[in-house]
Amino acid sequence: MNDISILTIYTGGTIGMVLNPETGSLVPFDFHNVYKQIPELEKLHYHIDAISFDPLIDSSDIQPKHWIEIATIIKDNYESYDGFVVLHGSDTMAYTASALSFILTNLNKPVIITGSQLPLGVLRTDGRENFISAIEIAAAKEDETPIVTEVCLYFENTLYRGNRTFKYNAENFNAFVSGNYPPLAEVGVYIKFHKENIHKPNFKRLKLRTKIDPRVGILKIFPGIQPSFVKAILGCKDMRAIVLESFGSGNALTSDWFINELKDSIERGLIIINVTQCIGGSVEMGKYETSRKLLEIGVVSAKDMTLSSTITKMMICLAEEKENKAIIDKFTKSWAGEITE
Ligand code: ASP
Repeated sequence: MNDISILTIYTGGTIGMVLNPETGSLVPFDFHNVYKQIPELEKLHYHIDAISFDPLIDSSDIQPKHWIEIATIIKDNYESYDGFVVLHGSDTMAYTASALSFILTNLNKPVIITGSQLPLGVLRTDGRENFISAIEIAAAKEDETPIVTEVCLYFENTLYRGNRTFKYNAENFNAFVSGNYPPLAEVGVYIKFHKENIHKPNFKRLKLRTKIDPRVGILKIFPGIQPSFVKAILGCKDMRAIVLESFGSGNALTSDWFINELKDSIERGLIIINVTQCIGGSVEMGKYETSRKLLEIGVVSAKDMTLSSTITKMMICLAEEKENKAIIDKFTKSWAGEITE
């Protein structure tokens, strides 16, 4: 055993299922028996501890309080471990990865989120490789310093910046893409780190953002969208911000009724953020006539942020600031490499 230690935080999801030989059904596996389930881990000679959520959750049930819970576990154990691996269902993994990248400020150690499409207990599982590689990445150091010092998502041979990811496939082992940022590492025979894409450590003290205000909604437009629907979304009580999922580089219908609904809502104090429905590329308001009007009425650009980053970051901005101007100023800055500058 060498002196590298990794803390695994097991939240639930498909990866943690194994076959109960007595009943023949899949049950969550007890991570305290991690070496029994994945004996290959012993060959890595790392000290691996585990903390499990109780109850374990399918990631569709993830809530902002769980992001704070994961971040708090990391903070409380920060000095005792070299790296952290979070096991999580893949469905909302991109949201959790984005949220953690914003919550964990001044992160100087690896936080690698992974999961799988098939449970560990299934013969062809992708979970074994995902888990073992995530541990190796979390343990990787150069000159005593961790190579990866940010929140990442690892899936099927690729390490991504967490807040740039999108789950695009419900069946492929290769389930994620990062449309606007290159991989941080690729895993084959060797783990090839692309150090030029990874944050440099700042050696400052880790801090948590602990306040989240979830009063954010999404308005996804499509040809034929009806005024009554748009009105209902924008008029939804208590919402502070609405994310407008637009076409292409931030374009939307130019019909007067649509622009006027948005304009009235902004005048009433609602913040409207423009994010593209595309997996890659950026919002560029003003490039086409169909986005110039949005710019004129005060819609805010999410630039090349993903939907998951936009939503989670806005929740934090709403909780931390009162005035719309301060919320928007904070939101439009890049905190953890989620915007291309
Ligand atoms: N429904 C599962 C979850 O997200 C799927 C998975 O684990 O990949 O928790």
